[in-house]
Parts: sequence; structure tokens; C-alpha cells
Amino acid sequence: MIVFDQVSKTYPDGTVAVDSLSLEAPQGEITVLVGPSGCGKTTSMRMINRLIDPTSGSITMDGEDTSGIDKVELRRRIGYVIQNAGLFPHRTVVDNVGALPRLLGTKKSPARERAMELLELVGLDESLAQRYPWQLSGGQQQRVGVARALATDPPFLLMDEPFSAVDPIVRAQLQQEFLRLQERIGKTIVLVTHDIDEALILGDQIAVLRQGGHLAQVASPEVLLRDPADAFVANFVGRSRGYRSLGFTGADEHTPILQTASAVLGEAAEALRFRPDGWLVAVDAQRRPIGWAHRDQVGAALQDSAINHAGSTASLGAPLRDFLDAALSSPNGDGIVTDAEGALLGVVSTDDVVAAIRRAKGAAAATRAAS
Ligand code: ADP
Ligand code: MG
Repeated sequence: MIVFDQVSKTYPDGTVAVDSLSLEAPQGEITVLVGPSGCGKTTSMRMINRLIDPTSGSITMDGEDTSGIDKVELRRRIGYVIQNAGLFPHRTVVDNVGALPRLLGTKKSPARERAMELLELVGLDESLAQRYPWQLSGGQQQRVGVARALATDPPFLLMDEPFSAVDPIVRAQLQQEFLRLQERIGKTIVLVTHDIDEALILGDQIAVLRQGGHLAQVASPEVLLRDPADAFVANFVGRSRGYRSLGFTGADEHTPILQTASAVLGEAAEALRFRPDGWLVAVDAQRRPIGWAHRDQVGAALQDSAINHAGSTASLGAPLRDFLDAALSSPNGDGIVTDAEGALLGVVSTDDVVAAIRRAKGAAAATRAAS
């Protein structure tokens, strides 16, 4: 755990970058610092590995005051990833990853071995090991940056706008990959971003900072969306908060998933059994839903041309937002629900999704009242 206790930073020119910040980054979780440009995110982060010294207050790591820890030892314990990866341009990928262990005295061949393992861990092919950074895409460079930060197997990881320099599609991939990686490595991570959507995707806990280095709110993504502390946070978190908060709540066990009529694409019309409202779910040979088909549209056999492709589907464990979307995008108000393999499980009605949303809100309000 990393703990900020009333940490402030005033730069020599009088700029107050961070003002009495108290914050805990729990063990094994991702804490995101988010806020507009200039609000003190980078300064806060760099005070953890002492690239910047606080003006007052203290930062402890697992109870130990960082001001008493030797800086080289600190770098060994804290991995650091920055925007654009910050790789050494004249070193190969494998040497970039092995650089810090080498500096700390690891012999060349074990350092290389470890570097190759790390490249695999972050999803890079070994054929890239001998390339130079400029011979890689932005996303690949970023993965090398993460591998390098993990080279000493540090318990802590600091990441400053790690995905901001890559294009949106690659960024989304890197974010998902990073979450999968964290499931395996379980580091205590502090990540800085100015992008609230990235914060909501990655953060177990999100600290919203505003100008002057003031902490506006610390909360889980769900609470931040549902219950912003003030107008600044509400504004920063942005539009459609209510709808977006449904992305963090699952349907409860009282949400009925009902059987529905279905048929495999290509089946003859005589064999088809429709629901009373005239619809059935068309599925493929693996019973994966293709879409709804209506009796009036089906000719001699169930053909693709008869299928309504507008509806989305929700898998059983998906958040309520997916259930709601499946129900609202269905031509008959029933959302298609699949199992983990994507096979048809049943349907959920719009009314039942709305009821589940009401229950979730009720439960959240009760928790709030009790705390
Ligand atoms: P963020 O990462 O949130 O964009 P920073 O921590 O980089 O914010 O900066 C916080 C404030 O401190 C800004 O007003 C910035 O201009 C100022 N600042 C950052 N570094 C210095 C410095 N070395 N000297 C003076 N002011 C600085
Ligand atoms: Mg910054």
C-alpha cells in the first residue's frame, strides 16, 4: 500500500502543484489519478519515487517512509512507465527491458533471459527483441515500456499517461491487455491519466484532482458516476452518468432469464415454432444468436434475409448496461441473453431489466445511508 499523508508541493516559483493530498493506494489494486491538465497528477506521482521531493507531508510504502529509502533501492521497488514509453533509442528492445537489472548488477545472460520472459508476458513476439524502438509501432513501444518497468519484479508500478500517445483503437486494446496482465501480476499500481473514460475502465479506485492539486473525490468508478461529490466532479465525469454507471453493476439473481423460441438458420418453415408475438431467435449451428425473425418475414425456410440484425446481445454475467441495451435494441422488447460461450440461453424483458436497475439503485442508496 502507498499512503500520502497531507503531501504538498510548492515549486520554487511559488506554484502550488499539490495541496495537502491524503490518499491511499491499496495493495494489489489500480488507483487512478485523474483530472484536467496542470492539476498536479504528474507531480503527485513523481513524489512517490522521489523524482520530486515533497515540500511537506509524508509518503509511505507498506508503512515505510519513502524519504528514508535509498533512491536506487526505491527504483528497484517501483516500476515506472511514461507516455511514449521513454525507451532508450540506441538500445534494442531486449536491452531496453534488461537495462535496469543490468545497472543493478544482474549478469548479462540472466538479464536477457528475464527480458525475453517479460516480452512474452506483455504479448510481444520474440522476433521483435533485436529491433530498435523506432522500428516498433506506438502500441508495441508501450508494451516494451511496461515490460521494462516490470524487469526487477517491483511490487509497485507507476504509470504516467501510459496509453495517451497511441491511437484510440490501439489504446482500447492496450487497456484491456493491461487489465488481463494485472490479473496475473497483482501489482499495486498508481496510474495517471487526463481521460476520465480511461480512468473508469482501469481504476479499482479513482482519485479526481482539480486545479491547485486539490483532491475532489476518491471513489470506485461506480460511485463516481452515481454519486459525484460536487459540481466539478459531476462536470468532469461528464454526460450520461446514470447510463454509464450501469456498466459497473451486474443483473442480480432475481432477474428472470426466460426460455424463448429459436431455430437454426436454414430450417424449413413447417418446422418453425414462433412465440405468441410471432418472433423467434435465429441461431447458427453452435446455437449462437444471429437475430430475431418474424413469422411474417419468413418464406419457405429461415433465411438470413428474414432476420432483424439490429439487436445486441448480453452474456449472462454482463453489466446491466448490456442487458438494457439488448432489451432496448430488440424489435420486441426482449433482450437476447447468451452463456459464456456465446450460445443462446434465453431472453430478458425490458421491464425485468428496469426492475433490476431499480433494485440495484435501491441497494446502493441503502449502502450510502448506512455509511
Ligand atoms: P498534471 O500532470 O496534472 O498535468 P503537473 O503535476 O505536471 O500537472 O503540474 C502541476 C502544476 O505545477 C502545473 O501548474 C504546472 O505548470 C506546475 N509545474 C510543474 N512542474 C513545474 C516546475 N518544475 N516548476 C514550476 N511549476 C511546475
Ligand atoms: Mg502530467
